[in-house]
Amino acid sequence: MDAVVCHGKKDIRIESREDAALASNEVRVRVLVAGSGPIGILTMAALKFAGASEIVVTDLTDAALAVAADRIGADRTINVAEDAVGLNVYAEHGGYFDLAVEASGAASALRSFVMHNAPLEHLASGFRWLEGPVWFGDAGALIFSDIPNNRLMRWSESEGISIYRAGSDFANGNTRDREGRLVSCSHGARAILRTELDGHITTLADRYQGKRLNSPNDVVVKSDGTIWFSDPHYGIGTDYEGYQAEQELPCQVYRLDPEAGELTVVAADFDGPNGLAFSPDERSLYIAETGAMFDPAATPHMRAFDVADDNTLSGGRHFHTVDPGVSDGFRCDEDGNIWTSAADGVHCIAPYGRLLGKVRVPETVANVAFGGRACNRLFICASTSLYAVYLNRRGISQQILAVP
Ligand code: MG
Repeated sequence: MDAVVCHGKKDIRIESREDAALASNEVRVRVLVAGSGPIGILTMAALKFAGASEIVVTDLTDAALAVAADRIGADRTINVAEDAVGLNVYAEHGGYFDLAVEASGAASALRSFVMHNAPLEHLASGFRWLEGPVWFGDAGALIFSDIPNNRLMRWSESEGISIYRAGSDFANGNTRDREGRLVSCSHGARAILRTELDGHITTLADRYQGKRLNSPNDVVVKSDGTIWFSDPHYGIGTDYEGYQAEQELPCQVYRLDPEAGELTVVAADFDGPNGLAFSPDERSLYIAETGAMFDPAATPHMRAFDVADDNTLSGGRHFHTVDPGVSDGFRCDEDGNIWTSAADGVHCIAPYGRLLGKVRVPETVANVAFGGRACNRLFICASTSLYAVYLNRRGISQQILAVP
């Protein structure tokens, strides 16, 4: 037989039925058949016979694949021809997953952004729904929100998982301000909260023009110290991730000047604003519209706004539509590529809006954050688990100005 089964860092060449049995047994989940025609079909048949649960081919036409699948009686076949070359076997080995990457075209830059000896790491499970990762380099730790469990979690390489704060007021998005303080979106308090260096918590904003905010969702801090956040209604719709309550304000995006205590609407034409992030030069602000999760009439997409010197926004053009899933949260790397959540993993979007490719993740991804010593480790909050992957890219430094 003439086929190669990609198995993590090594490729297994199939030359006999016994090899096929061994490969499919080891891989368990999925095998990639390189080759077409009679030999490819024979190989697929052998793998099917050996118990492979999915057979993935790289260079068959859909029609040819249908014929082949019919001949071998395949339950499920996947054709990854053309745009999705580079899909690797997707299999778990004790907490590590072979990196499964789909690059959009042979010339995709994503190929150089990932390292095939850097697996997708499964760091922890047992949560209900994770969001809001933020890296504390001085502590060597990641803080993130387990929203329905009403707690902030902490992960570090040396100590693993612990509860950072039980009773988090249903914190969602988190970030750090320029003095290194934790800034959190709180569904429960319907507010932006700042954890001071001595541990007490300050409410920075909970009302606009006398009315209560909805449920702040995601937050970023600009280099001038202003705090920008989205305020959809997601956290007050039920008692699962906050407290069910009446909506008093439209779903808007705000800029908070924490010195003056001034809250300003910067974008009002959203059904459900969600994740947001600045480009490296802070001349663009990307904001995700995910209102379609609750209102089918809303357009699910990421928008790009121009940021003027006086911190006003203009434009708001369509930038990219994530598919499948939504862009709940995202972060930029140093070159302005955007690493965003999606239903099938993390998608990497070029600064000009094109999908460069995907890093597949076993659970639906909600938010991501760069961290680690060189800011080259992408932490991934995905449903009930925390994952991480080292990339050949660095996130934008948080540029903390003063950490005592
Ligand atoms: Mg969000």
